[in-house]
Amino acid sequence: MRRLRNVKIVATLGPASNDYATIRALFEAGADVFRLNMSHGSHDDIRARHQTLRQIEADTGTPVCILADLQGPKLRVGTFANGSEELVERARFRLDLDPAPGTAERVNLPHPEIFAALEPGSSLLVNDGKIRLEVAECGPDFANCIVTVGGTISNRKGVNVPDVVLPLAALSDKDRRDLEFVCNLGVDWLALSFVQRPEDVEEARSLARGRAAILSKIEKPAAVKAFDAILAVSDGIMVARGDLGVELPVQAVPPIQKRLVRGARAAAKPVIVATQMLESMIDSPMPTRAEVSDVATAIYEGADAVMLSAESAAGSYPIEAVTTMNNTAISVESDPVYRDIIEASRTARRTSVADAIVAAAREIAENTPIKAICCFTQTGTTVSLVARERPRVPIVALTPLVETARRLSLTWGTHCVVTEPQERFKGAVICAARTALADGFAREHEQIAVVAGVPFNVRGTTNILRVAPCDERLIYSGDPE
Ligand code: PGA
Ligand code: MN
Repeated sequence: MRRLRNVKIVATLGPASNDYATIRALFEAGADVFRLNMSHGSHDDIRARHQTLRQIEADTGTPVCILADLQGPKLRVGTFANGSEELVERARFRLDLDPAPGTAERVNLPHPEIFAALEPGSSLLVNDGKIRLEVAECGPDFANCIVTVGGTISNRKGVNVPDVVLPLAALSDKDRRDLEFVCNLGVDWLALSFVQRPEDVEEARSLARGRAAILSKIEKPAAVKAFDAILAVSDGIMVARGDLGVELPVQAVPPIQKRLVRGARAAAKPVIVATQMLESMIDSPMPTRAEVSDVATAIYEGADAVMLSAESAAGSYPIEAVTTMNNTAISVESDPVYRDIIEASRTARRTSVADAIVAAAREIAENTPIKAICCFTQTGTTVSLVARERPRVPIVALTPLVETARRLSLTWGTHCVVTEPQERFKGAVICAARTALADGFAREHEQIAVVAGVPFNVRGTTNILRVAPCDERLIYSGDPE
């Protein structure tokens, strides 16, 4: 299915989007990538959603991209005798390793490694940052804290520890089980929550063994600091604004978003802007003006994708939320100012023949009326380089590998098609022309650019750029072998 925009839409699945009809409607409304959130739902739920997605792929003949989001080392307090307690400002509150039910004075925090890393003065945030505790004294099995911002604390609420790099394993036992489960099901991207260091990414990569690409969620101050090193070992990035806005002051998030989006684009890796984009649409069919403006900002910045979380997973208007993103994207991308911003933020750090070829293709698209840049790819690398150029015309990725087509569905401006393996360049040009015609990118008398590597089916050989008419007779008469 041809989309009329460059930016991609990621929709999280959940109880509000469980059945074939709803997921198919989300896809038709514009969702390109579906997120399976491993923090919620059983393996049976995940398996059923996965099966539905692959069914939709078969029924529509369009590669569907699946992203499995691992929960990561999310910290939680234990339970309370009364279910919850009210913490008032300036009161003392103790966290410890004692599993006994919590009271107004103390609660269990079953993570010895946290106590080892805390220092007097460290802050702990509970329940999405609504409650703040400051450590007064601490030892190997306790932390006596002062409540600096009060509120209700209840069973198993999440805890964030922003100022310390926690000596936590990047992947909990649950994450390892989930990783193996989803890799066996067959997912295209694995998202890693609470990444702190590049080694965390390497660890997940060695467990995934090439079965999925690795996307690092940037949601810890440590990850922001180590961003360049984390980006270097990741295949993609998520600006995870939910936890980021808890761990850092909320006003720190927009500049970080800009930096991450630019960094990922410069590295030719996809970047998703996530969380609270259309939050009010959980309960309302209409977004706020500010939310639409937020989605628009991410698109103007050149993000590869914008994401829906609870809006599509648990809200009352999942399809309306996708439609809102789709319409916002079409509106922004037809604004001449959008082109100006996208071009002004292009980084000319090109180091290879492939880079030079894709830059030339982009320039042809700027100066002539070609209709698409059709790119043959095995691993997707060349297509990522084309996407980094953010060309004026659609990118058509042609690959014999369905896994590559699915993964590239997250990439800006890229329409993915699975083709027969190619043997010769002339055949490839004809295949590109036929695809451009069939999928509505060009008409017979119009031209396309074709980027490929000869010999075919060898990685990293991009070496040909051809401009061809979408007319088989002309291709046959005019083309060398
Ligand atoms: P989450 O990640 O929805 O899994 O928490 C995204 C975020 O924190 O923004
Ligand atoms: Mn998060």
